[in-house]
Amino acid sequence: MRWKRRDWLAGVSGVAAAALGTGCSRPASKEAESRPAGAQPGLPLEQYEPKSMLHAAESKVPRARFPVIDIHTHLTFVNPKDQKVKHNGSVEEILAVMDRKNIRTLVDLTGGCGDGLKETVAHWQTPHPDRFLVFTEPWWSRASEPNYAQFQAEEIQKAHQAGAKGIKVLKTLGLYLRDGGPEGKLVKVDDPRFDPMWEAAAALNMPVAIHTSDPEAFFLPIDRYNERYEELHAHPDWSFYGKDFPSNRELQEARARVIGRHPKTQFIALHVADAEDLRYVSELMDKYPNMSVEIGARIGELGRQPRAARKFFDKYQDRILFGTDAVPHGDAYPQQVYGDLLYEIYYRFLETEDEYFDYAPARIPPQGRWRIYGLGLAEGILKKVYHGNAARLLGIKV
Ligand SMILES: [Zn+2]
Repeated sequence: MRWKRRDWLAGVSGVAAAALGTGCSRPASKEAESRPAGAQPGLPLEQYEPKSMLHAAESKVPRARFPVIDIHTHLTFVNPKDQKVKHNGSVEEILAVMDRKNIRTLVDLTGGCGDGLKETVAHWQTPHPDRFLVFTEPWWSRASEPNYAQFQAEEIQKAHQAGAKGIKVLKTLGLYLRDGGPEGKLVKVDDPRFDPMWEAAAALNMPVAIHTSDPEAFFLPIDRYNERYEELHAHPDWSFYGKDFPSNRELQEARARVIGRHPKTQFIALHVADAEDLRYVSELMDKYPNMSVEIGARIGELGRQPRAARKFFDKYQDRILFGTDAVPHGDAYPQQVYGDLLYEIYYRFLETEDEYFDYAPARIPPQGRWRIYGLGLAEGILKKVYHGNAARLLGIKV
């Protein structure tokens, strides 16, 4: 019916009908004839950068209102095969941003294991014990070996002695790790071979930061209906559609069983566990008091459901941790590039009630074409989220 209205408007005003929208089925030549000067036909999606015409308040938050512990960063990547450490930035440049942004401590989650871990700790944590803390990672490359369960639990003890403050479990578990090589079966998140490791974590008071699954759109075809089309187009290897991958919910449920089976272990579910489904996350939080969540790389999700998110922060204020998933010079992921701009967006999201702003320092919203709304958290909640909850789990004073 739209074409009728357009034709009517064109007739009445003499203005080009094509200016009123796209999708009309009239012949292309007629469309071109009536297109206003400057309007492009078939504008490619990647070139579309609409500027918001909304006159909304814009707050600058250059420093967090309270000292921050960022529980989720990647200062290093350690090659799981040879434990070679890649430092993603210099200590000096990282500290300079921390001082400007009121960041007391950064936690480097991907500290590796074995000799890699020792090097990471020596480089970051030992010279600056108040500013940098390092987590260890399981030896994935040995997970199919006999006696792995016992070996891995002992390695956690060794990592603790080497200075590691917690354990990081990448989404490797559930989505990449396979028994017996790339053609093997995917190892399940709740596979019993890891039970001694989860128990060792509890015995040593080492929290487990665990990333399981990914946004639901990553499990769907990369087509015109996918709300993360551009993100998946840029990173097709992030897609878990098809093949033998479990569903998002199966992965979540497997992690929930682990959390339930090890009530003395503190689990930090990274990326808000399942940020697109706060009702489900709330059920898990109600069921498992040993579960906390972290918000890294998910303010795009929280901020597009600000009313539900705010209720979530109110209810679970003692178990939500500040994190960014920041990677120094991680330019391929604009929502994670370590630096002033990134922290200012997180602070603005948590502290202000600004409306409709970008969740990442990027030309085009990298995780989906929407904008976010600030939560304007009360001071008491801010303090807990910025550092109180993390300090308690890490056993440190701020
Ligand atoms: Zn991460």
